[in-house]
Amino acid sequence: MRKPFIVGNWKMNKTIAETVEFVTAIEKELSGNEACTYGIGAPFTALKDAKANAKNLVIAAENVHFEASGAYTGEISIPMLKELGVTHVIIGHSERRQMFNETDEALAKKAKALFDADMTPIFCIGESEAQYDANETEAVIRRQLTEGLKGLCPHCASKLVIAYEPIWAIGTGKSATKEIAQNCCAIVRDQIKVMFNQDVADKVIVQYGGSVKPENIKEYMACEDIDGALIGGASLKVDSFKAIIDATK
Ligand code: PGA
Repeated sequence: MRKPFIVGNWKMNKTIAETVEFVTAIEKELSGNEACTYGIGAPFTALKDAKANAKNLVIAAENVHFEASGAYTGEISIPMLKELGVTHVIIGHSERRQMFNETDEALAKKAKALFDADMTPIFCIGESEAQYDANETEAVIRRQLTEGLKGLCPHCASKLVIAYEPIWAIGTGKSATKEIAQNCCAIVRDQIKVMFNQDVADKVIVQYGGSVKPENIKEYMACEDIDGALIGGASLKVDSFKAIIDATK
């Protein structure tokens, strides 16, 4: 049985003070909720305080470098995150792929380095609107998984969290229909089976992301291959984030 996993992706939002306020409030609101695992991806500057105030909340970083140390001005390494108690890292978000030239090759190195450090990547994939219109969605999904997860062993792969996020649905309010989301998450699972095996495919957590909100989370969670969600805008307010988590019960 795969336990639902809901993660907020705060992007470049929230100061330390705002983070502490949010984490304290959500911990209080959700105490005793064991139906799903939930967490937030917070900016680097807020991770230490997020962790210090978290009880049940999983604390994730939003990026990491694959090298442990060295001349990489402005980058953050895995040992630096581990020292803070961070357990998960969002990698390959479309904003990082598009605006910061994150490549499949770098992602494969990041995924491997994270597993080597006993941490979990939340690996994001998804097609652009032009690719969707050109019926390239399936090919894009299969290619991003093949390239970005190159070199992982089945044991590590079985612990992956994969977030399928169509770029046209991110921050647009134009969420994918449950049919599209289910179909694409099923393709993700099938590709994992092709690359690894059925057992790995059965264990992998597949999230849908893209304009998820309290009003639509239930229909996604009812889909066979959707195990959770990666949530941007609606994760910034305690009320909406709590409503989404409560809806997975
Ligand atoms: P959104 O963002 O929920 O605001 O669409 C999702 C994401 O970028 O992960």
